[in-house]
This record gives sequence, C-alpha cells and structure tokens, in this order.
Amino acid sequence: MAKSISDLLIEYFKKYPKKDLKHGPVVDWVTEQYLKDNPEPPRDPWRAIRKLHQEGILIKVSKGVYRYDPTYIKEVELFDFPPTIKEAIFERDDYSCVVCGRGRKDGVEICADHIKPKDKGGDNSVDNGQTLCMEHNLIKKNYSQTEAGKRYFIKIYKQAVVARDKKMINFCKCVFDCYDTHKINGHIQRPNGEDK
Ligand SMILES: [Zn+2]
Repeated sequence: MAKSISDLLIEYFKKYPKKDLKHGPVVDWVTEQYLKDNPEPPRDPWRAIRKLHQEGILIKVSKGVYRYDPTYIKEVELFDFPPTIKEAIFERDDYSCVVCGRGRKDGVEICADHIKPKDKGGDNSVDNGQTLCMEHNLIKKNYSQTEAGKRYFIKIYKQAVVARDKKMINFCKCVFDCYDTHKINGHIQRPNGEDK
C-alpha cells in the first residue's frame, strides 16, 4: 500500500531524531518518495507537517523548523497535556480548582484535568482542560470509575437475563440497589424488570 504524506514525514523525522529540520529538504524528500507510488506530487505537505505538530508528534522550533524527539512524545503520552497547554489552562483558571476555588495561592497542589476524557475522544486542547485540586481530581476519577462499573454490571445483568442465571441476576440487582441507596451515578438508568 502506498504511504501517506504523514507516514513519509514521520519516517523522515524519525531518521534524524532530536535534530532541528528545515521544511525545504523535508518536503523535497517526501515529494520524491511520494512520486514513486503516485502520479501527482503530494498536495500541501506543509499542512501535514502542521497537523503532526498539532498532534504533538513534532515540536515546532521556529518558523519552518521542526524537530522530532522520541522522549518528548513519551512525556506527552505520560502527562497528557503538553507543558505549554497545561500552563495556559492553569493561567486561565487563575491557578485555582474550578470546583472549590482553592489553589496555588493557598498552597494547594493543582492539576490539569480532561473535561472530556481522552478515551472518549477528548483532546489535549486548552478548551478541553480544567484546573482541579488533587482532592477534586480524585473525586472525579472515582465517580468515573463507578460509572464504568455500573455500565459493566448492566452488561453482565443483560447477559444473565438471556442465560436465565437467577443467581447473577439477583446479585446485579443488589449492586444496582447499592448505587441507588448511595445516590451514585443516578444519571445512568438501571435496567428495569427485564428478568420477569
Ligand atoms: Zn477543589
């Protein structure tokens, strides 16, 4: 299969890790490779470079100069928000938790949280970030985990209904009762009477 422009770009940058590369030679090389499999030269390789930069794969050094650094990519994956984005989120939120208002001024540690989680398609943009204190970050994390748990039990329950597994049906109902009793994740509808 023919390689895409971004495949070729990544291939080139990976050959010269941690080096500042000017766009001219990069585009020349990519065009040359691209023409081996395609009758027409690539359209707008520039745009593809900018896109790789936006995705955090390439670092922009200066105008028209980019760099690929494998250790930088690891950092992005590990800490999610790139350092500059994180700083912009903190600055917008005045270095304070958006829930309780406590922050650096009170000596409280803060972190950048993804409003829409990464595994649900949330990106690393400033708009998708909010400042939380460690306490509210933990609370948010716990509730999203109980949410995942409730969905999982709904799945188990439905399978148990199909299999007429009375023991498992009753166990799941008991779990749902527990969610109800403690008013946890009420926005997720528990299954109703499908076992009758
Ligand atoms: Zn807080």
